[in-house]
Amino acid sequence: LTPGAGLGSWPRRRARISPGAVALSQGGRALTYQELADSTDRLAAVLAGLGVRHGDRVAYLGLNDTATFETMFAAQRAGAVFVPLNHRLAAAELDYMLADSGASVLVVGPGGEEPDERLRALDSPRRELRHHLSYDELAAQAPSHAAPGAVPDTAPNEAVSNEAVSMDDPALFLYTSGTTGRPKAAVLTHANLTWNTVNQLVHLDFTSTDTGLCIAPLFHAVGLGQISFPLLLKGGTVEVVPRFDAAAVLSLIEERRATCFSCVPTMMRMMAEAPGWPGADLSSLRLVLYGGSPMPAHVAAEWRRRGVPVHQGYGMTEAAPGVSMEAALPDDAPTAGAPHFFIDTALLGQDGRPAPADGGGTGELLVRGPNVFPGYWNRPTEEAGFLTDGGTPGGPGDWFRTGDVVRAGDGVLRVVDRVKDVYISGGENVYPAEVEAVLNELPEVAAAAVVGRPDERWGEAGVAFVEAAPGAAADPAPIREHLKARLARYKLPKEVVFVEDLPRTASGKVLRHRLRARAGGAAGGPAPA
Ligand code: ATP
Ligand code: MG
Repeated sequence: LTPGAGLGSWPRRRARISPGAVALSQGGRALTYQELADSTDRLAAVLAGLGVRHGDRVAYLGLNDTATFETMFAAQRAGAVFVPLNHRLAAAELDYMLADSGASVLVVGPGGEEPDERLRALDSPRRELRHHLSYDELAAQAPSHAAPGAVPDTAPNEAVSNEAVSMDDPALFLYTSGTTGRPKAAVLTHANLTWNTVNQLVHLDFTSTDTGLCIAPLFHAVGLGQISFPLLLKGGTVEVVPRFDAAAVLSLIEERRATCFSCVPTMMRMMAEAPGWPGADLSSLRLVLYGGSPMPAHVAAEWRRRGVPVHQGYGMTEAAPGVSMEAALPDDAPTAGAPHFFIDTALLGQDGRPAPADGGGTGELLVRGPNVFPGYWNRPTEEAGFLTDGGTPGGPGDWFRTGDVVRAGDGVLRVVDRVKDVYISGGENVYPAEVEAVLNELPEVAAAAVVGRPDERWGEAGVAFVEAAPGAAADPAPIREHLKARLARYKLPKEVVFVEDLPRTASGKVLRHRLRARAGGAAGGPAPA
């Protein structure tokens, strides 16, 4: 890759090819690639004026917005690292992430609560935060044209490249979802994000005529890596959706003749359950992508029944995020597809060494490739769990331990469950995901999560937490009957507990450590700090 090809140069590189094409749109407002390139340079100059230097962190708090993209590209063009924060965080969590990332500037996006009470307490001495301002304030400071050289170490306004930024510089800190513990900031370099984009484009034929809905939050890898970067590289249009609302998204697909979107499974379930679903015109969609957690089989089937090609992506924040993709889901049990073009996979062998995955087998998945991150920010390198042959951990040849149990074979991966979620009952491994898939077959179950808890007789035993479907009775008897007919005895949960709502992360993943605490004990994995 040429020097200066970092993400901050993308808008200008794209404007060279298709200046008048719409890059971003939102609620009828549109920003062409030329406008995005100009605003990137102007905002980069303002950030530089605020003292932002190479390697500094610029945090962003807000809903999905065209401003999120503008601020991101500007920060990256100024040589800084963009740190998008989950807008639903509580004050203490926000404080932790600001202190942890060491952000010197916090930009608050449009559309949030005013005044934001959480931001009042932001004066802890641990923080390096020097400026905290709204996007509107940032934009108001921008000159109508950035003077040549206003962005330090950046070529003049007309220039495309971003010489001072190396492809190995961090471009983004993305916090992991925090499903298994406290969120960790994965350091993603310009190279990681670029190669992930290449991998996605090898698998999915995004074109400049695509209009993709950005409905997954932009502080999460699915919203950025799976769809936004590929679309923006190809010169397509990203329609930015600030808040996910199933009915509104169905109308938007129709209104914008959207061709694709990427999301997490919960969103597809909510759309398929929305009152407008039967009448929704989905004929413009040619590509729906999901990733991040397993999809209940009946939801995928419902989308397929409507003639929409559904693709499953498997990955993780640390891989920026793509590891593998299923080109289009078959009718039988979906797999997570084949590994991406530029990624290698292996299974963790008994001897703690990588064993080839092509031969089949089940074990913890190891990945390596140019999209795999160099490590977590502010954490000891051992925490990333790289398998290294000496040298600095996180180097290009190192394998990353994904923490996921995968069954490999026939050239595809099947995600079994997380290593930390497996529990052992009567000496047998139980994968909660398998039990949950069976629970999800029942129409009276809206969602389910199974965890292990200590058990005197069996070592560990399962507890099933069930969200009953609307109108369904909270009756464990038919659930037990169904499970008995489908699963071996040792896999049967000892207890079925009905809950109003399962505790979830912002991307809809079940927070099992909370359920484990509720079930009584830390079986199956440690509780987070
Ligand atoms: P944390 O690392 O903080 O505990 P997290 O692992 O949930 O949170 P992410 O990086 O958002 O954070 O999620 C990656 C994980 O999501 C994967 O390791 C895997 O367990 C799960 N996952 C991703 N895609 C799929 C999929 N298609 N099917 C099943 N599970 C998936
Ligand atoms: Mg993880």
